[in-house]
Amino acid sequence: MIHGVVITIDGPAGTGKSSVASMLATRLGLDMLDTGAMYRALTLWALSHGVSSQDAEAVDRVTHACVVDFDFTVNPPRVMLDGRDVSTAIRSQAVTDHVSYVAAHRAVRERLVQAQRRIAAAHPWLVTEGRDQGSVVFPHAPVRIYLDARPEVRARRRCEQLVAQGERVDESEILASIIRRDALDAGRATGPLRCPEGAKVVDTSDMTQEQVVERLESIVRAMVGHTLGQRHARGTVPCA
Ligand code: C5P
Repeated sequence: MIHGVVITIDGPAGTGKSSVASMLATRLGLDMLDTGAMYRALTLWALSHGVSSQDAEAVDRVTHACVVDFDFTVNPPRVMLDGRDVSTAIRSQAVTDHVSYVAAHRAVRERLVQAQRRIAAAHPWLVTEGRDQGSVVFPHAPVRIYLDARPEVRARRRCEQLVAQGERVDESEILASIIRRDALDAGRATGPLRCPEGAKVVDTSDMTQEQVVERLESIVRAMVGHTLGQRHARGTVPCA
């Protein structure tokens, strides 16, 4: 009896993980988990309570008081913070600037890693993306993918996204922010960004989003195509 398929997509900022994971999940009829959204939601909560993102103890204390969950009835799922839809608010520049500090705190990571495993237990037909999904959270997932791209390409893509949202951007600042986040994510003691052992590495620098999704779909179908016929009903799952 098959109980599900977890597909992990790891990689640094700006490789298009969220969009690609969402498109892949839709094509394969799976649920999609954006774990960066969970770290962002806790960051939003900490900032709105006047806590410094670098104060591990204070971040841990205030974020214990909130509940992050997802509404899986829509695609992509909505990120809910204490029952409020924060899917847009978590994308602010303030949250982006502070999230890597919040994500470096051991207690925060341990809590969210447990929450991600609970979500996968409730949604076992899952594409999950982040920095540590294949390396730490689901090291035995049957398909582990690592997306990469040159920093300049990642900065360019971020700029295009922001411009499309009507924001004014400075590409050199975005590049600096991406390089800073890479260093924080790769250098932290708990769950650092690294390529999971045995992962399929896809460098997306010279590929369109559509080509990346095609490539991932063919990898997944080659590896677990025979198990992709069943999936569980959708619902809302408490996660932190
Ligand atoms: O993917 P996204 O840019 O939304 O992630 C925001 C931040 O959350 C990352 O820069 C990283 O610091 C953190 N993160 C993490 N582990 C994950 C997902 C995100 O540390 N699994």
